[in-house]
Amino acid sequence: MNTLILAQAAADAAPAVVPATVINLAYIVACVLFIFGIKRLGKTETARSGNAISSLGMLVAVIAIFLDGNVMKSWTTDWFMNGYLWCFGGIAIGALIGAVWAKKVKMTGMPELVALFNGFGGLSSLLVAASEYFKEGEKSEALSVSGISLYLTILIGAITFSGSLLAYGKLSEKISGKPFLFKGQQFVNALIVLAVLAGLALYMFPSIVPGVPAEQVQLVAICGAIAISLIMGVTVVLPIGGGDMPVVISLLNSLSGLAAALAGFVINNNVLVVAGCLVGASGVILTVIMCKAMNRSVGNLLFSGFGSGATGSKKSSGPQAEPKAVSVEDAYLVLEAARSVVFIPGYGMAVAQAQHVVKELANKLESNGAEVSFAIHPVAGRMPGHMNVLLAEADVPYEQLKTMDEINPMMPMQDVAIVIGANDVVNPAAASDKSSPIYGMPIIKASETRTVFVLKRGKGKGFSGIENELFTKENTRMIYGDAKATISALVSEFGKE
Ligand code: NAP
Repeated sequence: MNTLILAQAAADAAPAVVPATVINLAYIVACVLFIFGIKRLGKTETARSGNAISSLGMLVAVIAIFLDGNVMKSWTTDWFMNGYLWCFGGIAIGALIGAVWAKKVKMTGMPELVALFNGFGGLSSLLVAASEYFKEGEKSEALSVSGISLYLTILIGAITFSGSLLAYGKLSEKISGKPFLFKGQQFVNALIVLAVLAGLALYMFPSIVPGVPAEQVQLVAICGAIAISLIMGVTVVLPIGGGDMPVVISLLNSLSGLAAALAGFVINNNVLVVAGCLVGASGVILTVIMCKAMNRSVGNLLFSGFGSGATGSKKSSGPQAEPKAVSVEDAYLVLEAARSVVFIPGYGMAVAQAQHVVKELANKLESNGAEVSFAIHPVAGRMPGHMNVLLAEADVPYEQLKTMDEINPMMPMQDVAIVIGANDVVNPAAASDKSSPIYGMPIIKASETRTVFVLKRGKGKGFSGIENELFTKENTRMIYGDAKATISALVSEFGKE
């Protein structure tokens, strides 16, 4: 979408040569492709083709934008040197960086990459709106749809940019991922909101400042809006951390879409408005789903510093006893006798890339007469749908995947739960410890099964950085080691029969 925004901004300067009807038709085709693409993203089996269809839509939109600028007729050397050279150069450099980055990024590094992309989306909308404001010649009236959109694009674009950079730092652990609250935070937030409203008033009605030319008042309002919004992005993301980070990513994603849609009004581009609205709306839906999964409201997530310790004592009570370890051979004997086994995958399964051997173990258990299911927590791993994607890659049948609400009532009937590199999503502190950063988050109730095997390398904590008393429960046994190696060893034990 960033390419789309910048392509339109560059093409704006050229007069039209292709009939407007053809261009609008191409825009409609692009929008239809976006919608079909997004629809197909809803299921793992169709997600790849959904991505390809949406990309095709984007290609159609970008080509249409170039033609919209009457390039064919006016493609003189001058025009090329001044306009399209920048545009094609930018697309080529951006595409190269994007392709290399996407190729190199590990699946576990996707959330921070998404956070950065959201930030760049916000930045491009901000730059387009700012260039519209600072360009020479006729400008939109401040009191018009495109004038007000310009101020709002700058505002939301800047919030998205600085907020996403901070989210990137937290997710990549370049800075502390913990929620950060300071004294008077609410007061500072209120001041920022007031400043933003005052800036909007000055921009729309510059004559309220007597004796100063209107352009100067508006210039101060615009520059002030950029500075304040950059600060606001930081103050919005600072109090969020730990297990709540997935929600903030989807929220920033939604804001980047909203900024792009508003930029569409500024530069009069319908396809940008539609694409921005689609991203904005899907981001809002995802935010609501993630909030539900974390048992939070958007309000208390953004403003209360939930999980920072403000709602209880700072220290988690933590486990009192030592976890008990078990050997692969002993674990095999229990699994061999089990009639029902539930796998609970988490981030560690992604790190170990254990999904294929997990499927092998599931096959062995099924051949041995056990009923197998997979309990999927909505925020397990590091991005929404992370576990679904990995398990689909290993051809785990869709019917075996159970949502948290489906599996929890069945947990007391399960013989064995195998927790594969999951930690926060099975941490009972979420239900019992009010001072815990994850208090209130629904969990998969692993401890209710007869026996729990926890596969992890050592004493590493989960994303939220807290102890987990599941590991010291009477019915829990730890199998230390890399998850892939442990599961492979279990598969070999079945092979020895
Ligand atoms: P988690 O709480 O981060 O725990 C992962 C566990 O995996 C660690 O305790 C680690 O322990 C173990 N591990 C790491 N590498 C391993 C390996 N090679 N083999 C075996 N174990 C390994 O994971 P989770 O339970 O899936 O919870 C996800 C967390 O991330 C939640 O707090 C969630 O809010 C947050 N988050 C989620 C998203 C999302 O969209 N899904 C995005 C951002 C953040 P050892 O070091 O001892 O091995």
